[in-house]
Amino acid sequence: MTQATADRAPRPSRPATKPHGQWKVDGTAPLNPNETWKQDDGGLNVRARIEQIYSREGFDSIDGTDLHGRFRWWGLYTQRKPGIEGGKTATLEPHELEDKYFMLRVRIDGGALTTEQLRVIGQISVDFARDSADLTDRQNIQLHWIRVEDVPEIWRRLEAVGLSTTEACGDVPRVILGSPVAGIAADEIIDPTPLINELAERFIGDPELANLPRKYKTAITGHPSQDVVHEINDFALVGIVHPTLGIGYDLWVGGGLSTSARLAERLGVFVAPEVAAEVWLGVTSIFRDYGYRRMRTKARLKFLMNDWGPVKFREVLEAEYLGYALPDGPAAPKPTSPGDHIGVHEQKDGRFYIGVAPTVGRISGEKLLDLAALIEAHGSSRLRTTPHQKLVILDIPKDRLESLLAGLEPLGLTAKPSIFRRSTIACTGIEYCKLAIVETKVTAATAIAELEKRLADLVDAGELEDPISLHINGCPNSCARIQTADIGLKGMMLPTPDGDPTPGFQVHLGGGLASSNREEAGLGRTIRGLKVTVQDLPDYVEQLVRRFVAARSEGETFAE
Ligand code: SF4
Repeated sequence: MTQATADRAPRPSRPATKPHGQWKVDGTAPLNPNETWKQDDGGLNVRARIEQIYSREGFDSIDGTDLHGRFRWWGLYTQRKPGIEGGKTATLEPHELEDKYFMLRVRIDGGALTTEQLRVIGQISVDFARDSADLTDRQNIQLHWIRVEDVPEIWRRLEAVGLSTTEACGDVPRVILGSPVAGIAADEIIDPTPLINELAERFIGDPELANLPRKYKTAITGHPSQDVVHEINDFALVGIVHPTLGIGYDLWVGGGLSTSARLAERLGVFVAPEVAAEVWLGVTSIFRDYGYRRMRTKARLKFLMNDWGPVKFREVLEAEYLGYALPDGPAAPKPTSPGDHIGVHEQKDGRFYIGVAPTVGRISGEKLLDLAALIEAHGSSRLRTTPHQKLVILDIPKDRLESLLAGLEPLGLTAKPSIFRRSTIACTGIEYCKLAIVETKVTAATAIAELEKRLADLVDAGELEDPISLHINGCPNSCARIQTADIGLKGMMLPTPDGDPTPGFQVHLGGGLASSNREEAGLGRTIRGLKVTVQDLPDYVEQLVRRFVAARSEGETFAE
């Protein structure tokens, strides 16, 4: 336990009910095994053991709590053994389900990458990860098939170019989502880059914030498209112009998906750029000190926000953590453009940025290497990952656009994706994820290819122009944000007449976040009994889209 932790005096005040495990209310005594090991020996401490023991002595030397707990603080999860079906995991011991290889998550705060960094990730993939690489919907890049023996060398290479896996997973401040067009878009309200860099440099790896009740997600944008899915983060700032105080941010707190999905709420304050880092620290500290730690299923900040509400949350933030009141602030207006940045757009300096779509974020190490070379050959050295499993290439001169666009196509990166490829995302799924029930990436790619063929008539006739988002999860967690999609699919085993369960999905309909084609954010509805097998998915989506196009009134969106 740290000194600061020990100094937090217990404040027992709720003897009549079971304690929630809030440090400032109930004291810091751990109420479950997870909280015990986090206090005894924090996740950050495992790095020394990985470097000095586990990488030398191999997988079988790894302590169980390190393997299934502390490794996450360094972006490492064991991956699923190949060939274990989704319906067969409940009775398996961890060692029967997990492989001796790891998924390694490289955190990319703000999604900001140089071609030098991209080349390093690509070469690590080729050398140590069987050429695997997935762009995630939180702007990270995930590699697979990593051996513990290779982790120190991977860290050495990453850290030499300013990248890391520090706190990429675990009960910590995770990667900071940032607008993929920060600092370059002509219509930007405020550039969040200095703030994102300050937060990453000051607080990532800070032991005082390395034992939160659960994961803590941050998103910051200054772009009017509101391009960082801010409503489903624990802490989010959205750029606004205050009528008298000037440019700053609107603060949102307490969003999160998975079970008990909840959109974040505005605190109604104006956050000036110069206090934004302190406000982030205040909200994060509230989570550390008041977050619920007794049950992990109730530990995300959204549960505290649900009980407190935004008025009390603001009061505690101002009175106990900032020591001053924040001014009231307006909400940001509805976005006027899509936040995925697909296509070619002019920057404020007259050069261009290009948003391109791999299929459901899947790429490879070799392709990352080729992409770095291609970008450099066209006069740029910068790109961004996005919260939509896409990439944005920056700083391309006008006279190099055509050549670059042609060079991207053979890499599977197109700036003119079909509406289906553009708006479909999928989580890792059964290929690598131990929690998965169904396969997702191939299922999604198959659905995209089928829908491109089957619905070409509607697209060609101009009857289907706006993307209809299809988000595919391999289990009831929500890594692919199923509640925020027009069509969200939650992986599960479905009964069949012959009694042999088959992989399929529970369907959620009508969700969506702030966007140019819906009035306000809302979570999708689970339609009871509406389930579809993996095999029938293209048929189902095709019929649903055809029914929507045939029945809609003018201007009606899918969500309505
Ligand atoms: Fe794994 Fe489930 Fe997350 Fe998909 S949604 S990556 S299957 S935990």
